[in-house]
Amino acid sequence: MKPFNPEQALWETRREFGEHGGVTPSISRSSTFTVMDPAIMPEIFQGLRGLDKGGCFLYSRHFNPTVDVLARYMSAMEGTEFAACTASGMSAISCTLLQLCRSGDHIISSDTIYGGTHALLRELFPEMGITTTFIDPMDTASFEQAILPSTRVIYAETIGNPTLKVADIPALSKLARKRGLTLVIDNTFMPMVVTPAALGADIVISSMTKFINGAGDAIAGVICASRDFIFKLMDLHTGRVMLLGPTMDPRIAYDIIQRLPHLGIRMREHCKRATAIAELLHNMGAPVAYPGLQSHPQHSLIKSMVNPGYCYGGMLTIDCGTKEKAEELMSLLQNKERFGLIAVSLGYYDTLMSCSGSSTSSEIPPEDQSKIGISPGLIRMAIGYTGSLEARLEQIERAVRAVGLAS
Ligand SMILES: *Cc1c(COP(=O)(O)O)cnc(C)c1O
Repeated sequence: MKPFNPEQALWETRREFGEHGGVTPSISRSSTFTVMDPAIMPEIFQGLRGLDKGGCFLYSRHFNPTVDVLARYMSAMEGTEFAACTASGMSAISCTLLQLCRSGDHIISSDTIYGGTHALLRELFPEMGITTTFIDPMDTASFEQAILPSTRVIYAETIGNPTLKVADIPALSKLARKRGLTLVIDNTFMPMVVTPAALGADIVISSMTKFINGAGDAIAGVICASRDFIFKLMDLHTGRVMLLGPTMDPRIAYDIIQRLPHLGIRMREHCKRATAIAELLHNMGAPVAYPGLQSHPQHSLIKSMVNPGYCYGGMLTIDCGTKEKAEELMSLLQNKERFGLIAVSLGYYDTLMSCSGSSTSSEIPPEDQSKIGISPGLIRMAIGYTGSLEARLEQIERAVRAVGLAS
């Protein structure tokens, strides 16, 4: 089988021109749409006249022409039939899981996931009668042992936040198919680099706030799935996106559409620089983790999952041991070396770094943090591509030596 090529898939989809033949798509900001024949209106509400059945756009919380263009591009890129864009990555996750599970149902999730998702599964969902068992993503066999009669979903991140543990998507997919479960993968860290649907995931979610938008100026999410599932999410009576209402604004959709053409170029540069920095730190004997390093325990797994032409993502970690040491290093890197910025989030053109245990993973209780490998001094770095690589390597080498993490 020819490997999936997300950049090619993106440009093989129907090209959207703007009004008057514009090379960029038009922004369709209208909240509501005129129905030319009054008889069509009731039919739209009865579900007899979708866009696919001679109907027209109805209302922009349902479908909007500009948001639809982005959804079409995203489904092409992720290799799924259809997609729905949402106002945030969290709403993409919560609406998907609420569509798949109701009170009494059970989820099996990787224990190495985004702090907000962890809080959703561990604290909010139990209030609604939906429970979760958390499993180390490196231990695929334990996912099977955790299956209950009420289990509906297996949930994981392609590369777990922040410990960068890799989910074995083909193995989890095989398990999900065998047991009739839905495999949901959060691919926020690896757009274009890994295509979870091509590896067997049923539903692929991304926070487009990160690499996909890439400019740190928008909050956005996407759900890539079958046509049937997306229409369930948009159903007028029970659709979780339609009724909970995390709608994407068409202006945001337009901005992201304009950044998709260089997503592949950006991802390759993020990957290339993260690899160079990880190799430098590794050779210095500094406590770096990056799935692209031969020494990473799951290097061969991630190697089998990445698309040709990419390396291993733009994220790495440095374990400084203590929070104080981590703060000292980040402070030097930001305020003296001007290597990057101390900020949460990722996928920006500048390097962003934060101490996960006391920031984006602080929703996870300290005892669980140590169990899943988040040390108090773990710095998560999202490597950017500004400045020259040579200068960046010198800056981080100086700072890491100055705090005594390498001799
Ligand atoms: C940021 C992030 C989210 C949440 O996305 P928002 O756009 O901030 O709502 C979910 N998953 C991962 C892996 C993330 O990094």
